[in-house]
Amino acid sequence: MMQLLKRFRSLLIVLLSLLMFNSFTACEKDDDNVEPEKIVTPDVPKKEEDNTDQSEEEGNITLYSVNGREIKKLKDYQIADSLLQLQKDSKKHQEIWSLISQIIPENHTKFFNEYMIFAGEGDGTAGYVVQTKEDLTQWQIGIAIDFAYEGGFNRDGELSYTIIHEFGHVVTLNNTQVDSKIAEENSKNYFPGEGEARDNSYVNALFQNYWKDIYNEFQEIGDDESKNEAFYEKYQDRFVTQYASTNPAEDIAEVFTHFAIFDKPTNNTIADQKIQLLYNYPELVELRNTIRNSLRIGTKSKSAPIIKVWKRGATFGKKGQKRS
Ligand SMILES: [Zn+2]
Repeated sequence: MMQLLKRFRSLLIVLLSLLMFNSFTACEKDDDNVEPEKIVTPDVPKKEEDNTDQSEEEGNITLYSVNGREIKKLKDYQIADSLLQLQKDSKKHQEIWSLISQIIPENHTKFFNEYMIFAGEGDGTAGYVVQTKEDLTQWQIGIAIDFAYEGGFNRDGELSYTIIHEFGHVVTLNNTQVDSKIAEENSKNYFPGEGEARDNSYVNALFQNYWKDIYNEFQEIGDDESKNEAFYEKYQDRFVTQYASTNPAEDIAEVFTHFAIFDKPTNNTIADQKIQLLYNYPELVELRNTIRNSLRIGTKSKSAPIIKVWKRGATFGKKGQKRS
């Protein structure tokens, strides 16, 4: 049964990536000048009155400040008329936030100080996180409101999946995990872009155990889409999803999501070993339990979110970019 489910899942993911690749290519054809990924320079204070083109090019709709469980509107961006309805609908902004708030445990709310509502249609990004402080103590989480309501709010748990994935980035890239003061040339551990992964960090453990032997090969691929595809095909048993093969930082966010929403795997593939690795950390097991209790995953009435049509941008997590 598990095997069958897995096969079904990988089939869906393959189908999804084919679809995504097509729409992504089409998007580029429409407008050759559009950058597929959003560039953000961390630590630059935001001028709220500043209505320059910076706000229009990115699909940003509304920015909120975050204080624990509370959000407060900071700015409505100048947007196309077609998106105005999504900007006015603050009930939806709040409904998405409530789900984020449900997923992020109390002791992790300190990492979030901004919440962005944006339109994902442009580049197919469903969500992202980006550090708002260079030392990685504070983060902005962005959610694509159009995707969040596609086919109904949080259809098949897709939005929950996105939020857990983005939360997984903050769990594995915050200041306790990554040292932003170390430059790449001085880094001896895995370097996710935000800084050097600390010796005992989760992502460094994942890297040392399951990436080191294929990392040179991986680095030679670069951004070439078909080479990335081939890399995934070759090492498929190492990855919980195709997106996980994007890089180690995306891998651990995907592994974290699977760790949170599915039962503990019993097989011995490398993909399963990666999930089992996270069970070695009591604080992560506690995090898992909190999320599952809050979403009532594993109870009779509530099954795990289904990985179905999760939309993602083609990002490779270079420094200063938002992490999708
Ligand atoms: Zn990601």
